[in-house]
Amino acid sequence: MDEAALPSREGMDYDVVIVGAGPAGLSAAIRLRQLGEESGREISVVVVEKGSEVGAHILSGAVIDPVGLDRLVPDWREDPDPPLKTPVSEDRFYLLGPAGGVRLPNFLMPPLMNNHGAYVGSLGTVCRWLAARAEALGVEIYPGFAASEVLFDGNGAVAGVATGDMGVGRDGEPTGNFTRGMELRGKYTLFAEGARGSLSKQLIARFALAKGREPQKFGIGLKELWQVAPEQHRPGLVQHSFGWPLDSKTGGGSFLYHMEDRQVMVGFVVHLNYANPYLSPFEEFQRFKTHPLVRPTLEGGKRLAYGARAITEGGFQSVPKLAFPGGALIGCAAGFVNVPRIKGSHNAVLSGMLAAQAAADALAEGRAHDELAAYETGWRGSAIGRDLARVRNVKPLWSRFGTYAGIALGGLDMWAQTLLGVSPFGTLGHGKPDYATLKPAAASKKIDYPRPDGVVSFDRLSSVFLSNTNHEEDQPVHLKVADMGLQKASEHDVYAGPSARYCPAGVYEWVEKDGDEVFVINAQNCVHCKTCDIKDPNQNITWVAPEGGGGPNYPNM
Ligand SMILES: Cc1cc2nc3c(=O)[nH]c(=O)nc-3n(C[C@H](O)[C@H](O)[C@H](O)COP(=O)(O)OP(=O)(O)OC[C@H]3O[C@@H](n4cnc5c(N)ncnc54)[C@H](O)[C@@H]3O)c2cc1C
Ligand code: SF4
Repeated sequence: MDEAALPSREGMDYDVVIVGAGPAGLSAAIRLRQLGEESGREISVVVVEKGSEVGAHILSGAVIDPVGLDRLVPDWREDPDPPLKTPVSEDRFYLLGPAGGVRLPNFLMPPLMNNHGAYVGSLGTVCRWLAARAEALGVEIYPGFAASEVLFDGNGAVAGVATGDMGVGRDGEPTGNFTRGMELRGKYTLFAEGARGSLSKQLIARFALAKGREPQKFGIGLKELWQVAPEQHRPGLVQHSFGWPLDSKTGGGSFLYHMEDRQVMVGFVVHLNYANPYLSPFEEFQRFKTHPLVRPTLEGGKRLAYGARAITEGGFQSVPKLAFPGGALIGCAAGFVNVPRIKGSHNAVLSGMLAAQAAADALAEGRAHDELAAYETGWRGSAIGRDLARVRNVKPLWSRFGTYAGIALGGLDMWAQTLLGVSPFGTLGHGKPDYATLKPAAASKKIDYPRPDGVVSFDRLSSVFLSNTNHEEDQPVHLKVADMGLQKASEHDVYAGPSARYCPAGVYEWVEKDGDEVFVINAQNCVHCKTCDIKDPNQNITWVAPEGGGGPNYPNM
Protein backbone atom coordinates (compact mmCIF):
# COMPACT_ATOMS: atom_id res chain seq x y z
CA MET A 1 0.00 0.00 0.00
CA ASP A 2 1.44 3.36 -1.00
CA GLU A 3 1.00 5.52 2.14
CA ALA A 4 1.51 8.71 0.13
CA ALA A 5 -1.46 7.88 -2.13
CA LEU A 6 -3.86 7.41 0.79
CA PRO A 7 -6.23 10.17 1.89
CA SER A 8 -4.88 12.05 4.90
CA ARG A 9 -6.22 11.03 8.30
CA GLU A 10 -8.79 13.08 10.11
CA GLY A 11 -7.73 14.17 13.55
CA MET A 12 -9.15 15.13 16.91
CA ASP A 13 -7.41 17.09 19.67
CA TYR A 14 -7.53 16.31 23.37
CA ASP A 15 -5.67 17.28 26.49
CA VAL A 16 -4.84 13.65 27.21
CA VAL A 17 -4.98 10.59 24.95
CA ILE A 18 -4.92 7.19 26.67
CA VAL A 19 -4.10 3.91 24.91
CA GLY A 20 -5.80 0.91 26.53
CA ALA A 21 -8.94 0.58 28.65
CA GLY A 22 -7.49 -1.66 31.35
CA PRO A 23 -7.39 -0.67 35.02
CA ALA A 24 -4.42 1.68 34.43
CA GLY A 25 -5.90 3.58 31.49
CA LEU A 26 -9.41 3.88 32.93
CA SER A 27 -8.12 5.00 36.33
CA ALA A 28 -5.98 7.68 34.71
CA ALA A 29 -9.01 8.85 32.70
CA ILE A 30 -11.28 8.98 35.76
CA ARG A 31 -8.67 10.79 37.88
CA LEU A 32 -8.04 13.38 35.15
CA ARG A 33 -11.75 14.22 34.97
CA GLN A 34 -12.03 14.31 38.77
CA LEU A 35 -9.05 16.70 38.98
CA GLY A 36 -10.56 18.80 36.21
CA GLU A 37 -13.85 19.06 38.13
CA GLU A 38 -12.03 19.89 41.38
CA SER A 39 -10.05 22.68 39.75
CA GLY A 40 -12.93 23.98 37.64
CA ARG A 41 -10.90 23.40 34.49
CA GLU A 42 -12.23 20.99 31.87
CA ILE A 43 -9.68 18.33 30.86
CA SER A 44 -10.61 16.50 27.66
CA VAL A 45 -9.71 12.80 27.72
CA VAL A 46 -10.05 10.03 25.14
CA VAL A 47 -9.37 6.30 25.61
CA VAL A 48 -8.86 3.87 22.71
CA GLU A 49 -9.26 0.14 23.26
CA LYS A 50 -8.46 -2.59 20.72
CA GLY A 51 -10.98 -5.06 22.17
CA SER A 52 -14.47 -5.10 20.65
CA GLU A 53 -15.71 -3.73 23.99
CA VAL A 54 -14.11 -2.72 27.26
CA GLY A 55 -13.10 -5.90 29.11
CA ALA A 56 -13.00 -8.10 25.98
CA HIS A 57 -9.19 -8.38 26.18
CA ILE A 58 -8.82 -8.27 29.95
CA LEU A 59 -7.54 -11.46 31.56
CA SER A 60 -6.32 -11.58 35.12
CA GLY A 61 -6.59 -13.90 38.21
CA ALA A 62 -8.00 -12.21 40.08
CA VAL A 63 -7.61 -11.52 43.73
CA ILE A 64 -7.79 -7.76 43.85
CA ASP A 65 -6.29 -5.56 46.54
CA PRO A 66 -8.77 -2.65 46.69
CA VAL A 67 -6.16 -0.09 47.78
CA GLY A 68 -6.28 1.61 44.37
CA LEU A 69 -10.04 1.48 43.93
CA ASP A 70 -10.53 2.84 47.47
CA ARG A 71 -8.54 5.94 46.54
CA LEU A 72 -10.05 6.40 43.10
CA VAL A 73 -13.74 5.79 43.86
CA PRO A 74 -13.97 5.68 47.67
CA ASP A 75 -17.70 4.86 47.66
CA TRP A 76 -17.48 1.91 45.25
CA ARG A 77 -18.82 -0.55 47.83
CA GLU A 78 -22.07 1.45 48.08
CA ASP A 79 -22.86 0.90 44.38
CA PRO A 80 -26.02 -1.27 44.08
CA ASP A 81 -24.01 -3.51 41.73
CA PRO A 82 -20.39 -3.20 42.93
CA PRO A 83 -17.62 -4.54 40.68
CA LEU A 84 -16.22 -6.74 43.47
CA LYS A 85 -18.59 -8.77 45.60
CA THR A 86 -16.68 -11.62 47.19
CA PRO A 87 -14.21 -10.87 50.00
CA VAL A 88 -11.39 -13.38 50.42
CA SER A 89 -12.46 -15.83 53.14
CA GLU A 90 -9.53 -18.24 53.25
CA ASP A 91 -5.94 -18.41 51.97
CA ARG A 92 -4.27 -21.74 51.18
CA PHE A 93 -0.75 -22.40 49.85
CA TYR A 94 0.34 -25.84 48.67
CA LEU A 95 3.59 -27.39 47.56
CA LEU A 96 2.46 -30.06 45.10
CA GLY A 97 3.95 -33.43 44.27
CA PRO A 98 2.48 -35.74 41.60
CA ALA A 99 0.11 -37.53 43.96
CA GLY A 100 -0.50 -35.09 46.79
CA GLY A 101 0.57 -31.85 48.38
CA VAL A 102 1.78 -30.26 51.57
CA ARG A 103 -0.19 -27.29 52.83
CA LEU A 104 2.14 -24.59 54.08
CA PRO A 105 1.02 -23.13 57.41
CA ASN A 106 -0.22 -19.55 56.98
CA PHE A 107 1.96 -18.29 59.86
CA LEU A 108 5.06 -19.04 57.73
CA MET A 109 3.88 -16.56 55.12
CA PRO A 110 5.16 -13.00 55.37
CA PRO A 111 2.23 -10.69 56.28
CA LEU A 112 2.31 -9.00 52.86
CA MET A 113 1.18 -12.32 51.34
CA ASN A 114 -2.02 -12.27 53.38
CA ASN A 115 -5.09 -11.67 51.21
CA HIS A 116 -7.29 -10.52 54.09
CA GLY A 117 -9.22 -7.46 52.90
CA ALA A 118 -8.82 -8.35 49.22
CA TYR A 119 -11.62 -9.51 46.90
CA VAL A 120 -11.99 -12.41 44.50
CA GLY A 121 -13.39 -11.12 41.24
CA SER A 122 -13.08 -10.54 37.54
CA LEU A 123 -10.83 -7.71 36.36
CA GLY A 124 -12.88 -7.59 33.15
CA THR A 125 -15.97 -6.79 35.24
CA VAL A 126 -14.03 -4.16 37.18
CA CYS A 127 -12.96 -2.54 33.90
CA ARG A 128 -16.50 -2.48 32.53
CA TRP A 129 -17.63 -0.80 35.75
CA LEU A 130 -14.75 1.71 35.63
CA ALA A 131 -15.58 2.49 31.98
CA ALA A 132 -19.18 3.36 32.92
CA ARG A 133 -17.85 5.64 35.69
CA ALA A 134 -15.39 7.26 33.29
CA GLU A 135 -18.07 7.90 30.66
CA ALA A 136 -20.38 9.40 33.29
CA LEU A 137 -17.54 11.83 34.07
CA GLY A 138 -17.24 12.79 30.39
CA VAL A 139 -14.40 10.57 29.16
CA GLU A 140 -14.72 9.51 25.50
CA ILE A 141 -14.02 5.79 25.13
CA TYR A 142 -13.62 4.15 21.73
CA PRO A 143 -13.55 0.35 21.90
CA GLY A 144 -12.82 -1.52 18.68
CA PHE A 145 -9.97 0.83 17.75
CA ALA A 146 -6.35 -0.23 18.06
CA ALA A 147 -3.69 2.44 18.38
CA SER A 148 -1.27 1.32 15.69
CA GLU A 149 1.18 4.19 15.42
CA VAL A 150 2.70 6.80 17.70
CA LEU A 151 2.59 10.37 16.39
CA PHE A 152 5.56 12.68 17.00
CA ASP A 153 5.81 16.45 16.70
CA GLY A 154 8.62 18.35 14.96
CA ASN A 155 10.76 18.17 18.12
CA GLY A 156 10.46 14.41 18.41
CA ALA A 157 7.98 14.56 21.31
CA VAL A 158 5.00 12.19 21.37
CA ALA A 159 1.96 14.06 20.08
CA GLY A 160 -0.72 11.34 20.15
CA VAL A 161 -1.53 8.12 18.34
CA ALA A 162 -3.14 7.02 15.10
CA THR A 163 -5.68 4.23 15.03
CA GLY A 164 -5.14 1.51 12.45
CA ASP A 165 -6.67 1.69 8.97
CA MET A 166 -9.63 -0.68 8.59
CA GLY A 167 -10.35 -2.73 5.50
CA VAL A 168 -6.77 -3.47 4.42
CA GLY A 169 -6.59 -6.85 2.65
CA ARG A 170 -4.22 -9.72 3.38
CA ASP A 171 -2.04 -8.51 0.51
CA GLY A 172 -1.70 -5.11 2.21
CA GLU A 173 -3.90 -3.36 -0.37
CA PRO A 174 -7.12 -1.45 0.48
CA THR A 175 -10.34 -3.48 0.05
CA GLY A 176 -13.82 -2.14 -0.70
CA ASN A 177 -14.30 -1.58 3.05
CA PHE A 178 -11.22 0.58 3.43
CA THR A 179 -11.46 3.31 6.08
CA ARG A 180 -8.54 5.47 7.05
CA GLY A 181 -7.49 5.51 10.72
CA MET A 182 -7.89 8.60 12.90
CA GLU A 183 -5.26 10.81 14.48
CA LEU A 184 -5.91 11.35 18.17
CA ARG A 185 -3.63 14.20 19.17
CA GLY A 186 -2.94 14.96 22.80
CA LYS A 187 -0.89 17.37 24.86
CA TYR A 188 0.07 14.22 26.77
CA THR A 189 -0.39 10.57 25.78
CA LEU A 190 -0.50 7.82 28.40
CA PHE A 191 0.34 4.29 27.26
CA ALA A 192 -1.69 1.75 29.27
CA GLU A 193 -1.34 -1.24 26.93
CA GLY A 194 -0.52 -3.76 29.66
CA ALA A 195 2.29 -6.34 29.57
CA ARG A 196 4.48 -6.06 26.45
CA GLY A 197 2.46 -3.29 24.84
CA SER A 198 3.32 -3.01 21.15
CA LEU A 199 3.61 0.79 21.06
CA SER A 200 5.16 0.87 24.54
CA LYS A 201 7.87 -1.49 23.25
CA GLN A 202 8.66 0.95 20.42
CA LEU A 203 8.81 3.88 22.85
CA ILE A 204 11.06 2.00 25.29
CA ALA A 205 13.49 1.46 22.40
CA ARG A 206 13.18 4.94 20.89
CA PHE A 207 13.70 6.85 24.14
CA ALA A 208 16.11 4.22 25.63
CA LEU A 209 13.78 3.95 28.64
CA ALA A 210 15.22 0.60 29.77
CA LYS A 211 18.81 1.87 29.85
CA GLY A 212 20.48 1.02 33.15
CA ARG A 213 17.53 -1.19 34.22
CA GLU A 214 17.36 -4.95 34.57
CA PRO A 215 15.66 -6.71 31.63
CA GLN A 216 11.88 -7.00 31.97
CA LYS A 217 10.83 -10.56 32.84
CA PHE A 218 7.54 -12.23 32.01
CA GLY A 219 5.34 -15.22 32.68
CA ILE A 220 2.54 -16.64 30.58
CA GLY A 221 -0.70 -17.03 32.50
CA LEU A 222 -3.36 -19.43 31.23
CA LYS A 223 -6.79 -19.31 32.76
CA GLU A 224 -10.16 -21.01 32.62
CA LEU A 225 -13.44 -19.94 34.12
CA TRP A 226 -15.60 -22.78 35.46
CA GLN A 227 -19.04 -23.10 36.92
CA VAL A 228 -18.62 -25.79 39.56
CA ALA A 229 -21.06 -28.12 41.30
CA PRO A 230 -22.74 -26.40 44.29
CA GLU A 231 -21.10 -28.71 46.82
CA GLN A 232 -17.63 -27.75 45.49
CA HIS A 233 -18.16 -24.02 45.78
CA ARG A 234 -16.48 -22.11 48.65
CA PRO A 235 -16.94 -18.39 47.91
CA GLY A 236 -13.84 -16.40 48.80
CA LEU A 237 -11.44 -19.37 48.93
CA VAL A 238 -8.04 -18.51 47.43
CA GLN A 239 -5.65 -21.39 46.73
CA HIS A 240 -2.13 -21.12 45.32
CA SER A 241 0.37 -23.84 44.57
CA PHE A 242 3.86 -24.34 43.25
CA GLY A 243 5.83 -27.47 42.39
CA TRP A 244 4.19 -30.20 40.28
CA PRO A 245 3.75 -30.47 37.32
CA LEU A 246 6.77 -28.18 36.74
CA ASP A 247 10.24 -29.46 37.49
CA SER A 248 12.19 -27.66 40.21
CA LYS A 249 14.18 -25.60 37.71
CA THR A 250 11.11 -24.13 36.02
CA GLY A 251 9.35 -21.27 37.78
CA GLY A 252 5.60 -20.97 37.97
CA GLY A 253 2.53 -21.97 39.90
CA SER A 254 -1.21 -22.15 39.99
CA PHE A 255 -4.19 -20.22 41.28
CA LEU A 256 -7.70 -21.37 42.07
CA TYR A 257 -10.13 -18.67 43.14
CA HIS A 258 -13.77 -19.14 44.14
CA MET A 259 -15.93 -16.17 43.08
CA GLU A 260 -19.69 -15.64 43.41
CA ASP A 261 -22.34 -17.51 41.35
CA ARG A 262 -20.56 -20.89 41.64
CA GLN A 263 -17.76 -19.56 39.44
CA VAL A 264 -14.21 -20.75 39.97
CA MET A 265 -11.20 -19.33 38.18
CA VAL A 266 -8.38 -21.77 37.70
CA GLY A 267 -5.09 -20.75 36.17
CA PHE A 268 -1.45 -21.55 35.77
CA VAL A 269 1.55 -19.26 35.27
CA VAL A 270 4.82 -20.46 33.72
CA HIS A 271 7.80 -18.14 34.00
CA LEU A 272 9.05 -17.41 30.51
CA ASN A 273 12.70 -17.89 31.45
CA TYR A 274 12.19 -21.66 31.09
CA ALA A 275 14.97 -23.54 29.31
CA ASN A 276 13.45 -26.62 27.67
CA PRO A 277 12.04 -25.82 24.20
CA TYR A 278 9.80 -28.90 24.47
CA LEU A 279 7.91 -27.40 27.41
CA SER A 280 4.30 -26.47 26.67
CA PRO A 281 2.70 -24.08 29.19
CA PHE A 282 -0.72 -25.10 27.85
CA GLU A 283 -0.11 -28.81 28.49
CA GLU A 284 1.36 -28.07 31.93
CA PHE A 285 -1.85 -26.25 32.80
CA GLN A 286 -4.03 -29.10 31.53
CA ARG A 287 -1.97 -31.61 33.47
CA PHE A 288 -2.14 -29.49 36.64
CA LYS A 289 -5.94 -29.70 36.63
CA THR A 290 -5.78 -33.50 36.93
CA HIS A 291 -4.05 -33.27 40.32
CA PRO A 292 -6.03 -34.92 43.16
CA LEU A 293 -6.18 -31.59 45.02
CA VAL A 294 -7.71 -29.82 42.01
CA ARG A 295 -9.71 -32.33 39.97
CA PRO A 296 -12.57 -32.79 42.50
CA THR A 297 -13.33 -29.04 42.43
CA LEU A 298 -13.80 -29.11 38.65
CA GLU A 299 -15.37 -32.53 38.09
CA GLY A 300 -19.12 -32.22 37.60
CA GLY A 301 -18.69 -28.58 36.60
CA LYS A 302 -18.65 -26.81 33.23
CA ARG A 303 -15.80 -24.94 31.61
CA LEU A 304 -17.11 -21.56 30.48
CA ALA A 305 -14.11 -19.65 29.14
CA TYR A 306 -10.42 -19.98 28.32
CA GLY A 307 -7.68 -17.47 27.64
CA ALA A 308 -4.07 -16.50 28.19
CA ARG A 309 -2.04 -13.37 28.74
CA ALA A 310 1.55 -12.47 29.57
CA ILE A 311 2.26 -11.04 33.00
CA THR A 312 5.27 -8.89 33.89
CA GLU A 313 7.62 -10.33 36.51
CA GLY A 314 10.69 -8.07 36.49
CA GLY A 315 9.36 -5.89 39.31
CA PHE A 316 11.17 -2.98 40.94
CA GLN A 317 14.55 -3.30 39.22
CA SER A 318 13.04 -3.72 35.73
CA VAL A 319 10.68 -0.73 35.73
CA PRO A 320 11.86 1.45 32.83
CA LYS A 321 12.06 5.21 32.87
CA LEU A 322 8.36 6.08 32.81
CA ALA A 323 8.19 9.57 31.33
CA PHE A 324 9.40 10.86 27.97
CA PRO A 325 8.59 14.01 26.04
CA GLY A 326 4.82 14.10 25.55
CA GLY A 327 3.85 10.95 27.41
CA ALA A 328 4.34 8.21 29.96
CA LEU A 329 3.95 4.48 30.54
CA ILE A 330 1.43 3.41 33.17
CA GLY A 331 0.28 0.06 34.64
CA CYS A 332 1.80 -3.13 33.28
CA ALA A 333 3.19 -1.34 30.24
CA ALA A 334 5.70 -0.24 32.89
CA GLY A 335 5.62 -3.61 34.72
CA PHE A 336 4.16 -2.89 38.17
CA VAL A 337 3.32 -6.50 39.19
CA ASN A 338 4.15 -7.68 42.69
CA VAL A 339 5.33 -11.19 41.71
CA PRO A 340 4.89 -13.22 44.93
CA ARG A 341 1.42 -11.74 45.42
CA ILE A 342 0.61 -12.22 41.66
CA LYS A 343 -1.00 -8.81 41.83
CA GLY A 344 -0.64 -5.82 39.58
CA SER A 345 -4.09 -4.36 39.13
CA HIS A 346 -3.87 -2.26 42.32
CA ASN A 347 -0.62 -0.71 41.10
CA ALA A 348 -2.13 -0.22 37.64
CA VAL A 349 -4.86 1.91 39.25
CA LEU A 350 -2.38 3.78 41.48
CA SER A 351 0.04 4.49 38.61
CA GLY A 352 -2.83 5.76 36.45
CA MET A 353 -3.78 8.14 39.27
CA LEU A 354 -0.18 9.28 39.78
CA ALA A 355 0.33 9.99 36.08
CA ALA A 356 -3.05 11.75 35.92
CA GLN A 357 -2.01 14.07 38.75
CA ALA A 358 1.27 14.90 37.00
CA ALA A 359 -0.53 15.53 33.69
CA ALA A 360 -3.27 17.67 35.31
CA ASP A 361 -0.64 19.79 37.11
CA ALA A 362 1.30 20.22 33.87
CA LEU A 363 -1.85 21.23 31.96
CA ALA A 364 -2.74 23.74 34.69
CA GLU A 365 0.68 25.34 34.12
CA GLY A 366 -0.06 25.57 30.41
CA ARG A 367 2.52 22.95 29.51
CA ALA A 368 2.31 20.38 26.69
CA HIS A 369 4.49 17.70 25.04
CA ASP A 370 7.20 17.82 27.72
CA GLU A 371 8.23 15.23 30.29
CA LEU A 372 5.98 14.50 33.27
CA ALA A 373 8.95 14.54 35.61
CA ALA A 374 6.77 14.54 38.74
CA TYR A 375 5.40 11.09 37.80
CA GLU A 376 8.88 9.77 37.12
CA THR A 377 10.33 10.98 40.42
CA GLY A 378 7.19 10.23 42.43
CA TRP A 379 6.54 6.53 41.90
CA ARG A 380 9.44 5.05 43.88
CA GLY A 381 8.42 6.91 47.03
CA SER A 382 4.74 6.11 46.48
CA ALA A 383 2.72 3.08 47.57
CA ILE A 384 3.74 1.41 44.28
CA GLY A 385 7.46 1.76 44.99
CA ARG A 386 7.05 0.48 48.56
CA ASP A 387 4.96 -2.48 47.36
CA LEU A 388 7.52 -3.54 44.74
CA ALA A 389 10.76 -2.77 46.63
CA ARG A 390 10.13 -5.24 49.43
CA VAL A 391 9.56 -8.19 47.08
CA ARG A 392 12.27 -7.29 44.57
CA ASN A 393 14.46 -10.32 45.23
CA VAL A 394 11.81 -13.05 45.14
CA LYS A 395 11.90 -13.59 41.37
CA PRO A 396 15.74 -13.40 41.01
CA LEU A 397 16.17 -15.89 43.90
CA TRP A 398 13.63 -18.24 42.30
CA SER A 399 15.42 -18.01 38.93
CA ARG A 400 18.86 -18.67 40.47
CA PHE A 401 18.12 -21.35 43.03
CA GLY A 402 15.10 -23.15 41.58
CA THR A 403 11.69 -23.63 43.15
CA TYR A 404 12.47 -25.11 46.58
CA ALA A 405 15.57 -23.20 47.71
CA GLY A 406 14.55 -20.12 45.74
CA ILE A 407 11.11 -19.84 47.33
CA ALA A 408 12.51 -20.50 50.81
CA LEU A 409 15.14 -17.78 50.33
CA GLY A 410 12.51 -15.46 48.87
CA GLY A 411 10.36 -16.03 51.96
CA LEU A 412 13.30 -15.27 54.25
CA ASP A 413 14.03 -12.13 52.29
CA MET A 414 10.42 -10.92 52.58
CA TRP A 415 10.49 -11.60 56.36
CA ALA A 416 13.78 -9.69 56.69
CA GLN A 417 12.30 -6.75 54.83
CA THR A 418 9.16 -6.88 56.97
CA LEU A 419 10.94 -7.15 60.33
CA LEU A 420 14.19 -5.26 59.72
CA GLY A 421 13.35 -3.11 56.71
CA VAL A 422 16.44 -4.34 54.81
CA SER A 423 17.29 -7.23 52.52
CA PRO A 424 20.32 -9.45 53.12
CA PHE A 425 20.67 -9.69 49.34
CA GLY A 426 20.60 -6.01 48.44
CA THR A 427 19.01 -5.78 45.01
CA LEU A 428 19.58 -8.83 42.81
CA GLY A 429 19.66 -8.77 39.02
CA HIS A 430 17.58 -10.98 36.71
CA GLY A 431 20.27 -12.23 34.35
CA LYS A 432 19.28 -12.92 30.76
CA PRO A 433 16.10 -11.71 29.10
CA ASP A 434 13.52 -14.47 28.61
CA TYR A 435 14.17 -14.97 24.89
CA ALA A 436 17.78 -15.93 25.63
CA THR A 437 17.12 -18.75 28.12
CA LEU A 438 16.12 -21.62 25.79
CA LYS A 439 18.56 -24.49 25.38
CA PRO A 440 18.96 -26.11 21.96
CA ALA A 441 16.61 -29.05 21.42
CA ALA A 442 19.57 -31.41 21.11
CA ALA A 443 20.50 -30.62 24.72
CA SER A 444 16.92 -30.92 25.99
CA LYS A 445 14.59 -33.75 26.91
CA LYS A 446 11.26 -34.24 25.14
CA ILE A 447 8.25 -34.07 27.46
CA ASP A 448 5.47 -36.65 27.17
CA TYR A 449 2.21 -34.94 27.98
CA PRO A 450 -0.86 -37.04 28.76
CA ARG A 451 -3.82 -36.94 26.40
CA PRO A 452 -6.68 -34.69 27.57
CA ASP A 453 -9.46 -36.57 29.35
CA GLY A 454 -12.25 -34.27 28.11
CA VAL A 455 -13.49 -33.92 31.71
CA VAL A 456 -11.03 -31.57 33.37
CA SER A 457 -8.30 -31.41 30.70
CA PHE A 458 -8.79 -30.43 27.06
CA ASP A 459 -7.00 -29.90 23.76
CA ARG A 460 -5.81 -26.57 22.47
CA LEU A 461 -8.30 -25.97 19.71
CA SER A 462 -11.43 -26.63 21.78
CA SER A 463 -9.90 -24.30 24.36
CA VAL A 464 -9.26 -21.52 21.87
CA PHE A 465 -12.90 -21.83 20.82
CA LEU A 466 -13.85 -20.79 24.37
CA SER A 467 -11.79 -17.59 24.08
CA ASN A 468 -14.27 -16.45 21.41
CA THR A 469 -11.34 -15.05 19.48
CA ASN A 470 -12.17 -13.66 16.11
CA HIS A 471 -10.22 -11.70 13.50
CA GLU A 472 -11.22 -10.40 10.10
CA GLU A 473 -9.48 -12.99 7.89
CA ASP A 474 -8.75 -10.66 5.00
CA GLN A 475 -6.11 -8.49 6.68
CA PRO A 476 -2.33 -8.54 6.83
CA VAL A 477 -0.93 -11.13 9.27
CA HIS A 478 -0.33 -9.24 12.52
CA LEU A 479 2.50 -11.55 13.63
CA LYS A 480 5.48 -10.24 11.72
CA VAL A 481 8.35 -12.63 11.13
CA ALA A 482 11.35 -10.50 10.23
CA ASP A 483 13.44 -13.25 8.63
CA MET A 484 11.84 -16.55 7.53
CA GLY A 485 15.26 -18.04 6.80
CA LEU A 486 16.31 -17.47 10.39
CA GLN A 487 13.03 -18.92 11.63
CA LYS A 488 13.83 -22.16 9.80
CA ALA A 489 17.57 -22.25 10.53
CA SER A 490 17.22 -21.45 14.22
CA GLU A 491 13.68 -21.65 15.62
CA HIS A 492 13.03 -24.90 13.77
CA ASP A 493 16.43 -26.52 13.26
CA VAL A 494 18.07 -25.58 16.59
CA TYR A 495 15.11 -25.24 18.98
CA ALA A 496 12.62 -27.69 17.38
CA GLY A 497 9.90 -25.06 16.91
CA PRO A 498 8.99 -23.98 20.46
CA SER A 499 6.39 -21.51 19.12
CA ALA A 500 4.06 -24.46 18.43
CA ARG A 501 4.19 -25.19 22.17
CA TYR A 502 4.45 -21.80 23.90
CA CYS A 503 1.62 -20.25 21.89
CA PRO A 504 -1.53 -20.99 23.93
CA ALA A 505 -3.76 -20.64 20.87
CA GLY A 506 -2.18 -22.93 18.29
CA VAL A 507 -1.23 -20.05 16.02
CA TYR A 508 2.16 -21.44 14.96
CA GLU A 509 2.81 -24.76 13.22
CA TRP A 510 5.69 -26.25 11.28
CA VAL A 511 4.06 -28.19 8.46
CA GLU A 512 5.66 -30.43 5.88
CA LYS A 513 5.07 -29.20 2.34
CA ASP A 514 6.77 -30.62 -0.76
CA GLY A 515 9.51 -32.17 1.37
CA ASP A 516 10.21 -28.94 3.19
CA GLU A 517 9.13 -27.65 6.64
CA VAL A 518 7.00 -24.54 6.30
CA PHE A 519 6.13 -22.08 9.10
CA VAL A 520 2.34 -21.63 9.18
CA ILE A 521 0.77 -18.74 11.12
CA ASN A 522 -2.92 -19.18 11.97
CA ALA A 523 -3.21 -15.52 12.93
CA GLN A 524 -6.98 -15.61 13.35
CA ASN A 525 -6.56 -17.78 16.49
CA CYS A 526 -4.38 -15.27 18.32
CA VAL A 527 -5.56 -14.31 21.82
CA HIS A 528 -3.15 -11.34 22.10
CA CYS A 529 -1.15 -12.83 24.97
CA LYS A 530 2.15 -11.46 23.49
CA THR A 531 4.19 -14.56 24.41
CA CYS A 532 5.67 -14.98 20.92
CA ASP A 533 6.93 -11.40 20.98
CA ILE A 534 8.68 -12.19 24.28
CA LYS A 535 9.90 -15.79 23.94
CA ASP A 536 10.96 -16.25 20.31
CA PRO A 537 14.65 -17.13 20.78
CA ASN A 538 15.79 -14.74 18.06
CA GLN A 539 13.32 -11.92 18.71
CA ASN A 540 12.29 -12.57 15.13
CA ILE A 541 8.52 -12.33 15.76
CA THR A 542 6.87 -8.98 16.40
CA TRP A 543 3.26 -8.71 17.50
CA VAL A 544 1.53 -5.67 15.99
CA ALA A 545 -2.07 -4.63 16.58
CA PRO A 546 -4.46 -6.25 14.10
CA GLU A 547 -7.59 -4.46 12.88
CA GLY A 548 -9.46 -2.99 15.86
CA GLY A 549 -12.12 -5.19 17.42
CA GLY A 550 -10.24 -8.40 16.54
CA GLY A 551 -8.98 -10.79 19.22
CA PRO A 552 -10.57 -12.59 22.12
CA ASN A 553 -14.00 -11.74 23.46
CA TYR A 554 -13.64 -12.63 27.10
CA PRO A 555 -16.82 -12.49 29.18
CA ASN A 556 -15.55 -11.82 32.71
CA MET A 557 -11.90 -12.90 32.76
C1 LIG B 1 -2.89 -14.94 34.56
C2 LIG B 1 -2.80 -13.64 35.30
C3 LIG B 1 -3.23 -13.58 36.62
C4 LIG B 1 -3.18 -12.37 37.30
N1 LIG B 1 -3.67 -12.34 38.59
C5 LIG B 1 -3.78 -11.14 39.21
C6 LIG B 1 -4.46 -11.05 40.44
O1 LIG B 1 -4.96 -12.04 40.98
N2 LIG B 1 -4.53 -9.84 41.03
C7 LIG B 1 -4.01 -8.71 40.45
O2 LIG B 1 -4.12 -7.63 41.03
N3 LIG B 1 -3.35 -8.77 39.28
C8 LIG B 1 -3.24 -9.96 38.64
N4 LIG B 1 -2.62 -10.02 37.41
C9 LIG B 1 -1.97 -8.82 36.87
C10 LIG B 1 -3.00 -7.83 36.35
O3 LIG B 1 -3.88 -8.47 35.48
C11 LIG B 1 -2.27 -6.67 35.65
O4 LIG B 1 -1.38 -6.09 36.56
C12 LIG B 1 -3.26 -5.63 35.14
O5 LIG B 1 -4.18 -6.20 34.25
C13 LIG B 1 -2.50 -4.48 34.47
O6 LIG B 1 -3.43 -3.52 34.06
P1 LIG B 1 -3.13 -2.59 32.79
O7 LIG B 1 -4.27 -1.64 32.72
O8 LIG B 1 -1.78 -2.04 32.90
O9 LIG B 1 -3.10 -3.56 31.53
P2 LIG B 1 -4.17 -4.59 30.95
O10 LIG B 1 -5.08 -5.06 32.02
O11 LIG B 1 -3.41 -5.59 30.19
O12 LIG B 1 -5.05 -3.72 29.96
C14 LIG B 1 -4.50 -3.20 28.79
C15 LIG B 1 -5.64 -2.83 27.84
O13 LIG B 1 -5.09 -2.09 26.76
C16 LIG B 1 -5.57 -2.60 25.54
N5 LIG B 1 -4.56 -2.33 24.51
C17 LIG B 1 -3.30 -2.82 24.46
N6 LIG B 1 -2.64 -2.32 23.40
C18 LIG B 1 -3.51 -1.50 22.76
C19 LIG B 1 -3.41 -0.70 21.58
N7 LIG B 1 -2.27 -0.62 20.89
N8 LIG B 1 -4.50 -0.01 21.18
C20 LIG B 1 -5.67 -0.06 21.90
N9 LIG B 1 -5.80 -0.81 23.02
C21 LIG B 1 -4.74 -1.50 23.45
C22 LIG B 1 -5.80 -4.07 25.81
O14 LIG B 1 -6.70 -4.62 24.89
C23 LIG B 1 -6.32 -4.05 27.25
O15 LIG B 1 -7.71 -3.89 27.28
C24 LIG B 1 -2.64 -11.22 36.68
C25 LIG B 1 -2.22 -11.27 35.36
C26 LIG B 1 -2.31 -12.47 34.66
C27 LIG B 1 -1.88 -12.52 33.22
S1 SF4 C 1 0.38 -15.69 18.34
FE1 SF4 C 1 1.62 -14.83 19.97
S2 SF4 C 1 0.29 -13.31 20.94
FE2 SF4 C 1 -1.03 -14.60 19.70
S3 SF4 C 1 -1.77 -16.17 21.09
FE3 SF4 C 1 0.08 -17.02 20.11
S4 SF4 C 1 1.78 -16.50 21.44
FE4 SF4 C 1 0.00 -15.23 22.07
